[in-house]
Amino acid sequence: TNQNDGVFKVMLVGESGVGKSTLAGTFGGLQGDSTHEPENPEDSYERRIMVDKEEVTLVVYDIWEQEDAGGCLRDHCLQTGDAFLIVFSVTDRRSFSKVPETLLRLRTERPHHDLPVILVGNKSDLARSREVSLEEGRHLAGTLSCKHIETSAALHHNTQELFEGAVRQIRLRRSRG
Ligand code: GDP
Ligand code: MG
Repeated sequence: TNQNDGVFKVMLVGESGVGKSTLAGTFGGLQGDSTHEPENPEDSYERRIMVDKEEVTLVVYDIWEQEDAGGCLRDHCLQTGDAFLIVFSVTDRRSFSKVPETLLRLRTERPHHDLPVILVGNKSDLARSREVSLEEGRHLAGTLSCKHIETSAALHHNTQELFEGAVRQIRLRRSRG
């Protein structure tokens, strides 16, 4: 055991524009007003939350796209995440097609860990511009052995479920030792 046992670190990864920062903002308690960008987007949000009657400290990191020489931040992200949320937009097939490559990268960096990964199809509110169906998302997640959820960061739909789900996945791995 160590002092970080009660701190769960979740990394938002995925292509630009899919809604990572907006999702992070919903966790951080910002208003999900899609007409305004958050004025002070942060690169991590820490909150104590109750999941299944047990409190945890959850830290959500939105650092995947930050520029830094040599990609140290991304490596740091890969090394320290307890769970990864691979986000794509259901309105952007290109972002969906990048998922396997991103997951492979995570699993290559952490080959000895059974990493909790959740595939997140965001922007589920944009029904008319949808390019990836719920079934396709589910199917890919099944193929890649990860969980799947659709969210709307704009409407706060399924966002709480997403972060609670990440906590449950991490707990499951830890309880197995
Ligand atoms: P990031 O590049 O992955 O961090 O994506 P952002 O969080 O910056 O979002 C990109 C754009 O998509 C912004 O204009 C957001 O307001 C919008 N957006 C994010 N999530 C949603 C969503 O669930 N529904 C809708 N309609 N728009 C969203
Ligand atoms: Mg962003």
